[in-house]
Amino acid sequence: MRVIVAGGGVAGLALGHGLVKYGVDVEVLEARSGIEATGYRLHMNADGGNALRFLLTPAAYAAYEQTSRRNPRRHVLAILDENLRERGARAHIGAPNDRLVPHTAVNRLTLRQILASALGERLHHDACVIGYTETADSVTVRLEDGREFTGDVLVAAEGMGSPVRRQRLGEPEFRDTGEAAIYSRVSYAALEGLDLPPVLEDGFILAFDPPGREFTFGPFPPRRPVREVAAELLPGTTLTDVVPYLQVTVSVPAEGPNAFTQGSVWDADQSALHTHMVKAVQEWSPVVRDIVDRIDVTSVSAVPIRGIATTEPWEPSRVTVVGDAIHGMPPNYGAGANTALKDAAYLAEHLLRVADGSDLVEEIGAYEAAMRAYAYPIANAAQNPASRNDATFVPEPSA
Ligand SMILES: Cc1cc2nc3c(=O)[nH]c(=O)nc-3n(C[C@H](O)[C@H](O)[C@H](O)COP(=O)(O)OP(=O)(O)OC[C@H]3O[C@@H](n4cnc5c(N)ncnc54)[C@H](O)[C@@H]3O)c2cc1C
Repeated sequence: MRVIVAGGGVAGLALGHGLVKYGVDVEVLEARSGIEATGYRLHMNADGGNALRFLLTPAAYAAYEQTSRRNPRRHVLAILDENLRERGARAHIGAPNDRLVPHTAVNRLTLRQILASALGERLHHDACVIGYTETADSVTVRLEDGREFTGDVLVAAEGMGSPVRRQRLGEPEFRDTGEAAIYSRVSYAALEGLDLPPVLEDGFILAFDPPGREFTFGPFPPRRPVREVAAELLPGTTLTDVVPYLQVTVSVPAEGPNAFTQGSVWDADQSALHTHMVKAVQEWSPVVRDIVDRIDVTSVSAVPIRGIATTEPWEPSRVTVVGDAIHGMPPNYGAGANTALKDAAYLAEHLLRVADGSDLVEEIGAYEAAMRAYAYPIANAAQNPASRNDATFVPEPSA
C-alpha cells in the first residue's frame, strides 16, 4: 500500500512518521520550502501524547518527551485579572498527557522536526497540492508545478484551507470569530531581574481586564537542552535550539479602529503589533508591562482565530481527511493539534489492518466515523462563544 499525505504540518508529519515506523510506503507533500517556525508552544494532552507514543519510533518519542516543558507547579489553566490576581482556574481539556509528564507542552518547531526525522526523502518540500483524480483502484494527486504522485490512499492534511478537503467534501464553512491572536515570545533570559509571580509558572495562564482585553501566557522551559537531546537520541537530525521562553498572546478584533489598532491587524508590521500589545497593558500590573516591553519584536505575528463548521457524515472512499482540514477550531482549548495527532494515530491503525486483509475503504470509513465521534464535540465546543473566559464552562465529553 502506498499512502500520499497532502500537507506536512503536525498531523501529516505524524502520520508519515508512523507509517514509516510500521513499514508502509508513504510520501508527504508539503507546500513550504522547509520546516519553518510557525507558532511556538503547543499544549499537549493525552490525545496527542498517546498518539505520539503509537506513531513515533522509541528514540523519537523519548526526544519528544525530553524536549517538552518541565512539569508545572499546578496542572490547570489559571484565570487571572490584570493585576495577576486569580479569578479562578479551569481543568485542561482532555486527560493528562502521561503519569510522569502530565499536561505538558512542546515547542511546535521542535515537534515537527522530530516528526520529520523518520521521513528523509519521503518528505517533499515546495510540493503544493492543487487537486486529485480518483479511480477504482488508485488516486493521483496533482501539484502546482505539474508533478503528480499516485498511491492507494490520499490523506488531506493541509489545514483549514485544504484543497483536497475542498474537492472531497466541498468548501468548508468558516466560522470566523472576527479576532486575531497576536502572539509572541519573550526569553527567560530577557525576564531576568523581574519579580515574576509563581502563577506564571503554572500550566497555562489566561488573564483579562474589565474591558475584556485578553492575554495568555504559556511558559516553555524545556526539560533538557534541545540540541543535547538531538545529539543523544536522534544523531543526524538537526533540532533547532530553543531557549526557555514565555509565550505571550493577546486576542484583538482583527479589523479596526478599536482599542488596539487604528486599522486592520493584517496591515500592521511586527513593530506595530508589538506597540499594540504594549498599549493594551498600560493599565495592567507593572510586572505585566515589563514582560510585554521585553518581548522579542522579531517573534511577533498575527493569526486569525477561526474554525470550520463540522460536516455531516459522508460515504468513505480512498481519499480521507485529518486535522484542521476537517475539524479546524479556535485555539482556546489547546486541542486542535492534539486532536489532529489522534486522527493520525487512528488512521494509521486502520490502514495497518489492510495489510492483514481488511478492506481499505471500510477501514477508512471506520476511522472517519470514530474521528467524527471524538473530534466534533471538541471542535463544536471550542467554537461556542460561551467557552471563552469562563472558568466553569466544560464541553460535552467526547466519545
Ligand atoms: C495561536 C494558536 C495556538 C494554538 N495552540 C494550540 C495548542 O496549544 N494545542 C493544540 O492542540 N492546538 C493548538 N493550536 C491548533 C493547532 O495549531 C492546529 O490544530 C494544528 O496545527 C492542526 O494540524 P494540521 O496538521 O491539521 O494542520 P497544520 O498544522 O495547519 O498543517 C498544515 C500543513 O499543510 C501545509 N499546506 C497547506 N496547503 C498546502 C497545499 N496546498 N499543499 C501542500 N501542503 C500544504 C502547510 O504549509 C502546513 O505545513 C493552536 C493554533 C493557533 C492558531
